[in-house]
Amino acid sequence: MRAKPKLGQNFLVDGQAAQRIVAALGEIAGRTVVEIGPGQGAITESLAARAKHVVAVELDRELAASLRGRFKAARVTVVEQDVLRFDFAAAAAEFGERLRVAGNLPYAITSSILLKLAASHAALDLAVLMVQREVAERITATAGTRDYGSFSIAMQMYGPIEQLFTLPPSAFSPPPKVYSTVFRWRFAPRFAELGVEEAGFLRFVRQIFAQKRKTLVNNLRAAGVATDAAAAALAAAGIDQQTRAEAVPIEGLAMLWCELEER
Ligand code: SAM
Repeated sequence: MRAKPKLGQNFLVDGQAAQRIVAALGEIAGRTVVEIGPGQGAITESLAARAKHVVAVELDRELAASLRGRFKAARVTVVEQDVLRFDFAAAAAEFGERLRVAGNLPYAITSSILLKLAASHAALDLAVLMVQREVAERITATAGTRDYGSFSIAMQMYGPIEQLFTLPPSAFSPPPKVYSTVFRWRFAPRFAELGVEEAGFLRFVRQIFAQKRKTLVNNLRAAGVATDAAAAALAAAGIDQQTRAEAVPIEGLAMLWCELEER
């Protein structure tokens, strides 16, 4: 069967890497694991040998049919569906547990999948995912580094993320043009701990990073916050008036949001 580039079909041919991905999920003997985009089953094989139950969500009809033929055991359920339409909350309710998630993601829709997982966080325990290396750099970036931005914060607000290992194009067939990085994401939202409201804080983060090279005050003004109010909130949060959002860690941005909300 020919790989379909539009579906991001770069199949993992490094068996050791597949095993490392599954090992990074921790103890799964008693757990249900959802695999996103199982493809030809490189990771599914190892998951099926270890997990209590695997739900493999594959959009490609031919691949889904071939996986069904290959994994006949009751503990592997192949769902032919767009993962962006998969209901993680319903699956968690059905299996009576928060789900673990694994996948070598189709790169063209990585951001949409990650945002969907963030929105489904209450149904999830942890995820081990492979993405384009540059995406992994962005989502794990910390303040003061080039890659730190609203997407880093939108992901990290749902729990700690750690990079695990990076693979060259030769680990896949056909080889993609980019390097790939595997990361682990433990779902533990930080909104309550930081005293911020989820939707309001994430909107604020997008606003203050709208023009990365501008100061916080200027981005806030563009979002309709009066300069006086922005200056007072920055002072109360202990942030210098000339600071750009990219220099401030999540905790400082949460303090600033709280100060602005009070005004
Ligand atoms: N897991 C396999 C591996 O590592 O060899 C395949 C990974 S390949 C990078 C991405 C897989 O996601 C492909 O099998 C592709 O058909 C599937 N896919 C693409 N878009 C999808 C979608 N929206 N929902 C579910 N699966 C999708």
